[in-house]
Amino acid sequence: MLDHFRRSLDTIAAKHRTRALRAVEMRGDGRLVRDGRELLDLSSNDYLGLARHPLLMKRSADYVHQYGAGSGASRLITGTSAPHLAIEQKIAGFKGTAAALVFATGWQANAAAIPALAKAVQGTAIFADRLVHNSIHTGLRAASGQVHFYDHNDYDHLTRLLADHDNAPARLIITESVFSMDGDRADLARLNQLSVDHDALLYIDEAHATGVLGARGAGLTADHPVPEGSGRIVMGTFSKALGGFGAYVACPDVVYDYLVNMCAGLIFTTAPPPAMLGAMDAALELVPDMNAERAHLAALGEQLRAGLHRLGYDTLGSTTQIVPFVVGTEAAALALGNHLMDNGVAALPIRPPTVPKGTSRIRFALRSTLTEQDIETVLSAVAAWEKP
Ligand SMILES: *Cc1c(COP(=O)(O)O)cnc(C)c1O
Repeated sequence: MLDHFRRSLDTIAAKHRTRALRAVEMRGDGRLVRDGRELLDLSSNDYLGLARHPLLMKRSADYVHQYGAGSGASRLITGTSAPHLAIEQKIAGFKGTAAALVFATGWQANAAAIPALAKAVQGTAIFADRLVHNSIHTGLRAASGQVHFYDHNDYDHLTRLLADHDNAPARLIITESVFSMDGDRADLARLNQLSVDHDALLYIDEAHATGVLGARGAGLTADHPVPEGSGRIVMGTFSKALGGFGAYVACPDVVYDYLVNMCAGLIFTTAPPPAMLGAMDAALELVPDMNAERAHLAALGEQLRAGLHRLGYDTLGSTTQIVPFVVGTEAAALALGNHLMDNGVAALPIRPPTVPKGTSRIRFALRSTLTEQDIETVLSAVAAWEKP
C-alpha cells in the first residue's frame, strides 16, 4: 500500500496542491513568526486575540492543578466532573438555551451529532446549504435518511425542496450562521419562518459567529430567538474567537438527553480535559463584555472591504471579520499569497477543490488586535501586486 500512498502524493504534486505542516509561532499582538519572519496574522481564527489572554491561560493552569491533566474516562463512565456540568450550564446561559453539551472539537460535534439526530426517525429529510463545512459534510455522509443540498443562501431553492418533501416523516435544516470561506451570513429570520412553515428542526453552526456577532457575542442566533413551538440546535466552537479548544451543542433538554444516550461521538470518547474547561470558563466570563473589541473588528472589516473594492476586487457576500476577495486562477491566488508574505502579511490562498474553479481567492481573517494602520499596510501590499 505504501506505493499507492506515494502515487497519490505524486498526483497531488502534479497539480501543485501538495500541503505540508510548517511550524508557526503565534504572538499575542496579532503577529506570527514563520520561517524566522514576523508577519501580520490575517489567517488565524483567534478573532478576539483571546488565545494568549492571561485570564484564559491562568484559569486553564488553575484547572490543571485542581483537577488534573486528563479526565480519565468517557462522560457516561466517570469522565463527567462538576466543572463539566458547570461549564455546560454556563454555555446554556450564554446561548439562551435550556441545555448544552461540550464536545472535544467542532469537527467531532458535527460529524457525530448530525448522524445521531437523523437516527431518531427513519427517512428523515435533511436539507443543507451547499457551502457547509467539511465536518457537516462528514456528518451528512454518516447519516441515514436523504440529504438535499440547496444552493448557497438560496432560500427559494430551500423552500422548493422543503415543499417537495413535506410528507417526509421528519425534516432537519442545516446551515452555518457565518460561512467560513465567504464570510457572509445566513438569514436566520427567514430560516426561523421556514422551520415553522415546514415543521423542520434547525441546526445552526456558529463556529465563526460565536464571540464575534450577536448580543453579548452570543452568536447570530442570539438575535433571532426561535419562534414558539419550533426547535433549534446551535453548535459552536471554543477554538476560534473564544481562544481555546473544544465545542458545544446548545439545545432543548430533550435533545441533550437524546444525545447523551445516542451520540457515539460523545459516548465513546474521553471527556474533555480540565485545561480545556478552564479556558472555556474564562472566555465565557470575558466575551459578553467585549463589545468594544467587536465594534473595532467590524470597523476593520468595513475598512478592508472598502479598500479592496477601490482596487477593483470582489469581496463576495462578506459582511463579517472574514473577508475573501476573488483573484481568479489558482496560480494567481498562489502568487498573490506569496507576494503578501514577501510584504509581511500572512493570508491564506483558497483554491479548488475548496472553491469553484476560476474563483480562487485570498481569504483574510481579521482580529480585533489589528489596527487601522495594519489594514492600510495590507491594502498597500495588495495594491502593489501586479497580476501575472
Ligand atoms: C472550524 C469549524 C468547525 C470545526 O471546529 P474545530 O473546533 O476547529 O474542530 C466546524 N464548523 C465550522 C463552520 C468551522 O469553521
